[in-house]
This record gives sequence, C-alpha cells and structure tokens, in this order.
Amino acid sequence: MLRSVPGTNDFFGKSKEYAFREPVFRHIVESAQRVLSASGAQTIHTPIFEYAEVLQKGVGTTSDIVVKKEMYTFEDRGGRILGLRPEPTASIVRSYNEHGMKVWPQPVRLFTWGPIFRAERHQKGRYKQFHQVDYEALGSSDPLVDAETIALMVQIYRELGLKHLEVKLGTVGDPEDRLRYNAYLRELFRPHAQELSEDSRTRLESNPMRILDSKSAADQQIASGLGVRPMLEFLGEEARAFHQAVVRYLEALEVGFSIDPSIVRGLDYYVRTAWEVHHANIGAKSALGGGGRYDGLSEMLGGSRVPGVGFGIGIERVAIAMEEEGVEAPTSPSLDLYLAPLDEAAKVEALQLAQKLRPQLQVEIGYSVKKVGKALEDATKKGARYAGLLGQGERMNRVTLKNLASGKQTQVAWNDVARWLGEQAEQPFAD
Ligand code: AMP
Repeated sequence: MLRSVPGTNDFFGKSKEYAFREPVFRHIVESAQRVLSASGAQTIHTPIFEYAEVLQKGVGTTSDIVVKKEMYTFEDRGGRILGLRPEPTASIVRSYNEHGMKVWPQPVRLFTWGPIFRAERHQKGRYKQFHQVDYEALGSSDPLVDAETIALMVQIYRELGLKHLEVKLGTVGDPEDRLRYNAYLRELFRPHAQELSEDSRTRLESNPMRILDSKSAADQQIASGLGVRPMLEFLGEEARAFHQAVVRYLEALEVGFSIDPSIVRGLDYYVRTAWEVHHANIGAKSALGGGGRYDGLSEMLGGSRVPGVGFGIGIERVAIAMEEEGVEAPTSPSLDLYLAPLDEAAKVEALQLAQKLRPQLQVEIGYSVKKVGKALEDATKKGARYAGLLGQGERMNRVTLKNLASGKQTQVAWNDVARWLGEQAEQPFAD
C-alpha cells in the first residue's frame, strides 16, 4: 500500500488526531474569516507556486528557508525554477504590485489561508506541509496599523476560545540600526565562535541577530553569560518613537503583551515591529503565529516602496493548543433524515425525495434495499433524527417518517416533509 509523505497530513472528520480533523480546521479558518472580514479586510488567494525568485527574495538569503534549503523547488518544462511557497507574504506583495493596488485606498488589507511548504525535519507541530491564515496590511507606515494587526491576530485566538496566550513584542529596528547591532553582536560573540552551535557559527557572519533566538542550550548559556544588550538600546530615534507608539496603542486596545528583546524573526526583510504569539503549555513548538513589519520587501521584488505589516497563524499549532485547552471541537451538523428504500422501485424515489429536501435539510439515502429493521438500524448508526421509509405501503409520493428517539411514526406527503420536520423540531416530543 502506498503511503503519504511523512510530515504531510490528511484532514478529515474522523481523524484520530484532533489537529487533523477537518471540522476543527474549518472552524479555525471560519473564525479568522469572521474577525478579519468584520475589519473590512478582503480575501485573496495567490498560487501555491511562484517563480522561485519571488519566494527567495521574499524570505531573504540568510533565512533558514534559503540557507537550509527548506524551500521545495522544481524545474518546469520551460526550464524555469519554480518553488512551493514557504510563506505567503511575498506572493501577496507580488500580487499587490502586479495588479496596481497602490492606487486603491491605502492600506490595502488582505488575508488568505492555505498550505505552506517547508522541507523541515518533521515532529509534532512541525510539518513539511502545514497551513496558515495570513493577513497583510500594505501601504501604510503608521504604527496604528501595526497595533491593529496585532490586535486582530489576538482577537482570532480569543474568538477560538484560547486563553493561555503570550504575546511577545519586539522590534528589529531600521536597517541602519541592525547594522550597528549586528556589528556589536559579531564583536561580542566572535571570541566564543568555537563554542557556538554550528548554526550560530554560520549566523555569526551572515545574520548574528539570529543567534539570539537559537534553540541550542549552549548558545543560550553563552548569550546570557555575555549579558547581551537588547536591540532596543540600538534603535535610532525614529524606530524608537515608532516602537513606543505601538506599545501605547496596544495598551489603549488592552491587548496583553510583554516586551521580548529576543524576538528577531527568521526572515530578513522585517523592520521595526516584530512579534510572536505563544501558547503557555504546548511545549517546544509553542509558537501559534508570528508577524512583523516589512517595509523593504516590495522593492526587493522590483516594485516601488510599499510599507507593510502582517501575520501568519499556524493552523495545526492552533488546533494543538485548542485540544490542550479542551476547547470543544465543533461537530458537523447532524443528519436530519435517512431515507431507506424497502423495495427496488423505492431506490430512485429515495433519491428524488432527497433531492427535493436538500440543501434545506441534511438528507442521506440508503443505496440498497433493506428490510425495515435493518433500515432503522442503519439510520440510527448514521445518527439521523428521523428515518424515512419508502416501499409498497408508501407509494403515491408518501413517506413514513419515524422519530428514532421516541419511536413514534407517521405517514406524510412528500410535499409536506420539510414543513412537518420543521414543526417537529420546534416541539420535539409532539406526536
Ligand atoms: P513563520 O512564517 O515561520 O513565522 O511561522 C508562522 C507560524 O506558522 C508559526 O508561528 C507556527 O505556528 C507555524 N509554523 C511554522 N512552521 C511550521 C511547520 N513546519 N509546521 C507547522 N506549523 C508551522
């Protein structure tokens, strides 16, 4: 038997794993849609593959995605290199530029959801194909937009019923602040290069800020021993004022958060605001989402300067957090009626009546002729409220409806079924 690629998952209603139950997935997406649509943001869907160049520029040359070759790339028939998206922001900014959204009222606020691909070593909470809800506000450099973006993200988690959230706010400053900070970090860490993990040794030259969010215990020990000064102390005046404004707005919006200087983000194009949302008790893979400002990205993609800020929410991680907090998985709507044919002629009649009643009512049919006892057993197994029996006794467009809880039954004309079931729902114990 052929199997799926490890690190990819199937989502369906009865999946053994809560995180891969399709109704849970749908509930997360619908909750996010509700919150984001109510804010006036518009849905966008971009292709899941793009020219690799778009995606590479988007994630930056020193990010893990490029350095560790986490992007799936392939050559198409024309010899062009394409890639499966390792995050959606670059595609959305590419689309903004390509479709001239700059002339729309700014900021243009867009959201999407769908699969993301990264060739990572998989474990619980980390997959090769995972899914994100992603939101981007493009065309404004007002810190109020950063605050609204963070607040919307937090509102989505709250809408889902999650409580144990930690919102960690940081800043990566402006490019010139980062140059100063990186120079400081290089000087500080260089004498300890040999003690650093291999990843951090590589980052020492390319992107030393990333050493600060290294997961290696040895790296963390070295960093705390050196008493690393936070990025906040290296901010220029503008970036400092911007950060303070975001803090002020978030306080006004009563979004609980803490300042965390170790938030440095894996992607190169971030400037100023950066944040992560973690769950207090789901272990190592606790990040439920992250976001930041990326004013330089559009230019890297050949467009004009378009400031932007946005977030990505990991859908599987959110599902894991919901399970941890015991948030009830929404159940699919229950079956109203199970129509059972009791003879050959009734098979197509069952389908005719089902067609009449759908989609107002959820109606399934039995596909083969059964005796009454077996038909009722099937209806009960399916979790239907009513069984509808069709056979010799019911010709002339009539059906026997049996309440499977009370056992009471009555014959109804096809044209009256919807109304009759509706009335029964209002007074479930009526005859
Ligand atoms: P990032 O784009 O790396 O900032 O990721 C945003 C969010 O996506 C993270 O906070 C996680 O919730 C989720 N995420 C990132 N990588 C993975 C992965 N490999 N598997 C599952 N979820 C992931």
